[in-house]
Amino acid sequence: MPSLERWVYFFGQGRADGSAAMRDVLGGKGAGLAEMANLGLPVPPGFTLSAKLCLTYLEQGTFPHQLHEEVGRHLKQLERATRKRFGDPRNPLLVSVRSGAAVSMPGMMETILNLGLNDETVQGLIAGSKNPRFAYDSYRRFVQMYGDVVFDLGREPFQEVLEEFKARRRVARDIDLPADDLQALVHEFKSIIQAKRGAPFPEDPAAQLWGAIEAVFKSWRTRRAVDYRKVHGIPDDLGTAVNVVAMVYGNMGDDSGTGVAFTRDCRTGENGLNGDFLTNAQGEDVVSGARTPEPLAKLKRGRGALAKVYRDLERIAAKLERHFMDVQDIEFTFEHGKLYMLQTRRAQRTGLAAVRCAVEMVDEKLITPDEAVQRVPPQDLDQLFHPMVDPRATVTVVAKGLPASPGAAIGEAVFDADEAATLANKGRKVILIRPQTSPEDFHGIVAAQAVLTARGGMTSHAAVVARGMGKTCVVGAKDIEVTSEAGGGRLRANGRVVKQGQVITVDGTTGRVILGAAKLVQPKIGAHYAKLMAWADQRRRLRVRANADTPADAKRAREFGAEGIGLCRTEHMFFEGNRIIAMREMIVAPDEAGRRRALAKLLPMQRADFEGIFEAMAGYPVTIRLLDPPLHEFLPHTRTEVAELAKVMKLPPARLQRLVDSLVEANPMLGHRGCRLGITYPEITEMQAQAIFEAACRVVARGKQVVVEVMIPLVAHVEELRRQAEIVRRVAREVFQAEGRAVPYLVGTMIELPRAALTADEIAKEADFFSFGTNDLTQTTFGLSRDDAGRFLPFYVDRGILPDDPFQVLDQEGVGKLVEIAVRLGRASRHELKIGICGEHGGEPTSVKFCHRVGMNYVSCSPFRVPIARLAAAQAALEEQGVINRTKATV
Ligand code: PEP
Ligand code: MG
Repeated sequence: MPSLERWVYFFGQGRADGSAAMRDVLGGKGAGLAEMANLGLPVPPGFTLSAKLCLTYLEQGTFPHQLHEEVGRHLKQLERATRKRFGDPRNPLLVSVRSGAAVSMPGMMETILNLGLNDETVQGLIAGSKNPRFAYDSYRRFVQMYGDVVFDLGREPFQEVLEEFKARRRVARDIDLPADDLQALVHEFKSIIQAKRGAPFPEDPAAQLWGAIEAVFKSWRTRRAVDYRKVHGIPDDLGTAVNVVAMVYGNMGDDSGTGVAFTRDCRTGENGLNGDFLTNAQGEDVVSGARTPEPLAKLKRGRGALAKVYRDLERIAAKLERHFMDVQDIEFTFEHGKLYMLQTRRAQRTGLAAVRCAVEMVDEKLITPDEAVQRVPPQDLDQLFHPMVDPRATVTVVAKGLPASPGAAIGEAVFDADEAATLANKGRKVILIRPQTSPEDFHGIVAAQAVLTARGGMTSHAAVVARGMGKTCVVGAKDIEVTSEAGGGRLRANGRVVKQGQVITVDGTTGRVILGAAKLVQPKIGAHYAKLMAWADQRRRLRVRANADTPADAKRAREFGAEGIGLCRTEHMFFEGNRIIAMREMIVAPDEAGRRRALAKLLPMQRADFEGIFEAMAGYPVTIRLLDPPLHEFLPHTRTEVAELAKVMKLPPARLQRLVDSLVEANPMLGHRGCRLGITYPEITEMQAQAIFEAACRVVARGKQVVVEVMIPLVAHVEELRRQAEIVRRVAREVFQAEGRAVPYLVGTMIELPRAALTADEIAKEADFFSFGTNDLTQTTFGLSRDDAGRFLPFYVDRGILPDDPFQVLDQEGVGKLVEIAVRLGRASRHELKIGICGEHGGEPTSVKFCHRVGMNYVSCSPFRVPIARLAAAQAALEEQGVINRTKATV
């Protein structure tokens, strides 16, 4: 049955079949080209094959039968537009074939330039340009890219021969080779293809075109593309479009060139055109990192044609930014001083830049504050708090490169992407060091703390990719020489050598490569951030609290904007110093008297910490959870630990060892923990309640406000809560009487077991508040051990069995359903029930949005994630109101 679907869309000469709104069909590049053509900007004409075709092709292995006719028709149209003919030996039309998915994936898929050249058409190119060097340079590039991409030979075999030619002529740059050599290279490259693949390079332009189209579609499934999508959460079923565009030539001489420009600085957000360019070069030279390009400022200062190119570029860039209402990442080429736009897309940027651009665009009246709040990916705020090298520290700088992505990172030097991935999997911190940037290294970049390359510019693939991930990156450190070999490799720079495994620091903010582990400091938060967060805070409904266990954590949490503490894990107060001994004494005590002796030691420690926390929280609510120690975490493990404790407890070590052994559990996470501890040993609950209320009274006595919330953990049955709450309330009365003052307080519970969620109506009768412990709720809903899941869960995510690690991103379909049920049942029996979340999900943006939608009152997360949660909560509120972020309609 003939399909009515349209597969091919034309653009050029001031009009286009598509537009920016058709990104799903045309891909980002195709949609951008169409939109620019519609805007009357100088775009070389061409046509786009739909991304939907990619999926059809990959599934069926063939093209729909009408496609050849449809492509043929558009090729004719392109011939008319360019007044050239495909395969014409006198006046040949040459095209580029470029990938472009709906979501930008820089450098992940393929591009082929100068397609249409063969031994005959190259003569036409020579005649037309009167420049044999240019013609053969174009031809050798084409055969090289075709061999790499379509014959899947990679770059190396071609690069090797090219390097030999350059060495023989003693020239540093490809463009310095004479025409004869370039012609000879074409011949050599074709022989490589014949020898390695047993098939000739296709001379027929039509065969070339179809080979290239198929290769671009196939590149959707290469390892690096698949990995990139996984890291960035891009669906696998988008497919890539293919753009067939008439060639314009940046390699026609010194008044020609190519480059990449950003309308604002994507590292800092500073407003102003910036980027890189190369004269006498084609696009791949800039982004592949093969040559280190010049900054755009040099184009501005260039003489004659170059300065004019800059002025035109500046004008068009400003127009594009106004049109798309967002920072643009632009590719351009100029041919004999005439500028052409090859691509425009939404620029990837650091968290720092995202915040500054959003705020300044509001100041410039380009977007609204609502949009600014929606523009910054909450997760990216994390980068604002990245450590930097302490400016006062004395450091040994081995080399300097371009500061491609900010932050500082410390790790072992590793020279191979596979090795980086393997070591990182074992928990080691590594720095990936490569001679130049190559998308093949993507999995290594993901695994590394930072990336360092000897060559490449600010817009090279590694730079763009690392920036997108907020990963520290330095590129183009030209003083370094990198040799990589399996299991070894080294870096030489300015008389020093760094070997595999040696620790270095990479400073992506300044571009420095530092020997050893430098002292790092946290950056200061700027005015743009404060402004954006003020807008976010005005818009959100959810309150944001922090999980904090000590007065120091509580103070930091306030600095990040926490409006209270949603979880104070009291057992964590005993990890430090000698405190663990008293805690162990309490746990292993053979009887109640022994336990009470240990509890008496713990009481003043707890009370002092609670006072500190109440002070730091200055009247904001503080939820203190009663002890919930999986006992195995606290038992003495080594002989020395047992001996030490035996001495304190005045017990023979062998007797103590027997006591410890009797407490070992087969499954501690489901064992004697949570409220089960306070149920069996009520004196523990009594001591904790006493410490809490005494601390509260003392702080109130100093004229401060205190809001106390006591939380009972791991409740499965309402009766557990009722009995524990009774103890807390009794102790509160006793303390208030003794202190001669009362402090308002609530008693609530965690909902972290399925039974609690399913009986939330009963539980709510005894609880002033609920706090979802989604760590345990995930563990118990999935039946997945929190402690052991790391061994097999990554496999599940890798194979697509689960979309994400459910301990990081809330499983809304399963665990979320229990949460929804519990919220509904809880509020049905107690209308004013206060509800929050304190599992790790409370700081993960999609989970925060879920919490908003189900009607929680607050989320609570680690202090560093408080800003992320605040922004995500504001975005959730705006999404609910249907406020549109207009940048989404652009490419
Ligand atoms: C939880 O289970 O989600 C929780 C916050 O408690 P913990 O992580 O201490 O078990
Ligand atoms: Mg828990």
